[in-house]
Amino acid sequence: MRRDFRTTPDWENILPSFQQPGRYSGAEYSAYPERKNSVKFLLAFPDDYSIGMSSLGFHTVGNIINSHPGFSCERVFAPASDLEEWMRREDIPLFSIERKRAAASFDIIGFSMQYELSFTNFLNMLELSGIEPLREERRDAPIIMGGGPSFANPAALSAFFDIIILGEAEGVLPQVLSLYHEEGEKKSFLKKAAEIGGVFVPGISRSARFAVFSGFDNRYFPVSPPVALTECAHARINLEINRGCRNRCRFCQASALYSPYREKSVEELVEAAAESVASTGYDEIALTSLSGTDHTDILRLLDELYYSFRDLGVSAVMSSMRPSHFASELSGRIARMRKGGITFAPETPSDKLKQVIGKNISSDEIISAATEAARLGWKRIKLYFMIGLPGENTEDIESIVKFIADVKKSSGLAVTASVSPLVPQPHTAFQWLRAEDPSLLLEKAEYIRKKAPAKVSRFNKGQYIIESILSRADASLAELLIAARKRGARFDQWSEHFKFGIWEEAFRDIGASWEEYYYREFSTSEALPWENVSLGAGRKSLLSSYLKATGG
Ligand code: SF4
Repeated sequence: MRRDFRTTPDWENILPSFQQPGRYSGAEYSAYPERKNSVKFLLAFPDDYSIGMSSLGFHTVGNIINSHPGFSCERVFAPASDLEEWMRREDIPLFSIERKRAAASFDIIGFSMQYELSFTNFLNMLELSGIEPLREERRDAPIIMGGGPSFANPAALSAFFDIIILGEAEGVLPQVLSLYHEEGEKKSFLKKAAEIGGVFVPGISRSARFAVFSGFDNRYFPVSPPVALTECAHARINLEINRGCRNRCRFCQASALYSPYREKSVEELVEAAAESVASTGYDEIALTSLSGTDHTDILRLLDELYYSFRDLGVSAVMSSMRPSHFASELSGRIARMRKGGITFAPETPSDKLKQVIGKNISSDEIISAATEAARLGWKRIKLYFMIGLPGENTEDIESIVKFIADVKKSSGLAVTASVSPLVPQPHTAFQWLRAEDPSLLLEKAEYIRKKAPAKVSRFNKGQYIIESILSRADASLAELLIAARKRGARFDQWSEHFKFGIWEEAFRDIGASWEEYYYREFSTSEALPWENVSLGAGRKSLLSSYLKATGG
């Protein structure tokens, strides 16, 4: 039997020798409590602690599990290289941070799957736990549960998971936990769980629909999450003010995943913010949403938050705003916010391409908003653009350079820009789109980077290729993931760890090439690999939107 971390002599003295040991201490304020004689649930995030601890979804699920009296929850994150090397050398299995229990000793391990490039970390965490990756080859292992946006396409991941929560967990997960508590036996639990709406049980379910949480407007908030001990991507309170988006941009999977649009009341939000401030000590409240200023009571909300917390030195920040709101009565309220930098996502300044993607933010509006932001005291602006759009030509690429120059000149703000290629995603109108030559995409991005008077971030061609392939993966790619993991792939979302060569070899291992999958044609008459799960708009309306966009 493998050793347990807790039985390692002197482990309390070994832990501080790793980089940022606070990531593994589990000694944070509000770390999850132990509940004796309960079902043991390990909540796993297949990325670094700093990313997982910034995730509202991760804390929401932790809150749901801890609210169930029959369950005890602990956390685990992907260990960094130094700890992993030591664990492998000493044969120490993956352990929970709260009580340093071996992952394989839990009843359920639930993975929060947020993005495709974390899939190999997920497999690595199973490997470090001594758990077989393939569902059908596992014996006497914990139930491997999954949830999160990656399951918009569960085709490849179904080989690894025993049970998948599709969509919003708040309504579904409590039912699933109660069922497990009653059943306690894996086989009968999975069989019955397959009957719950929003649950997909690979090997049993034929199809399922994404769950929508009907109680979003009521109280359901992780108001006292564990407070991170080390630097995090976002050390702040995440206050989700509304969910979903009223728009349907053709490339956007998020609006399909979180449809329909809903919002919480001002009273509810201010109360949750007060509890969160008291329990975490954070001095920043991020108003989280796809489009914050769309909240119908946004003026009152910003006023209430401002007057409730200004004496405590706590301020609100909002990442997603419409440019038009800068020129409205909102601008005074926005001016009181902490001025980190403002962000707009025009995607393209080309009128033709705006029609194609179905997102129509006028360039004049952005320029006016940037000018107003500069007047209100902002110093920096970040703009997001997409390339590789259907029908894109040289003038469209040049228009991005010109637009960045116009924003800079009119506002005087320092501009940074992100130029990323479109990733055609399942359940969007572009799910059928043929991928563009990645070298050409890189050329376009480099052209913008060289010509635009702004700091333009680089995109990693290899990561883009693998993300695109995994996003529209079919079941056969489970084999690719195993091959890539065997060859050492891990932390693929981190460019310093990502190695495209590993993936090229992994494709060869399965007798294929990345080109075959990347350039794969998805015919509008075939059943797509992810069409056994449904969310948002149906195939008919997506197809008509796709044909409209591509002139088909
Ligand atoms: S891109 Fe933004 S505005 Fe468009 S649908 Fe998605 S969230 Fe809404």
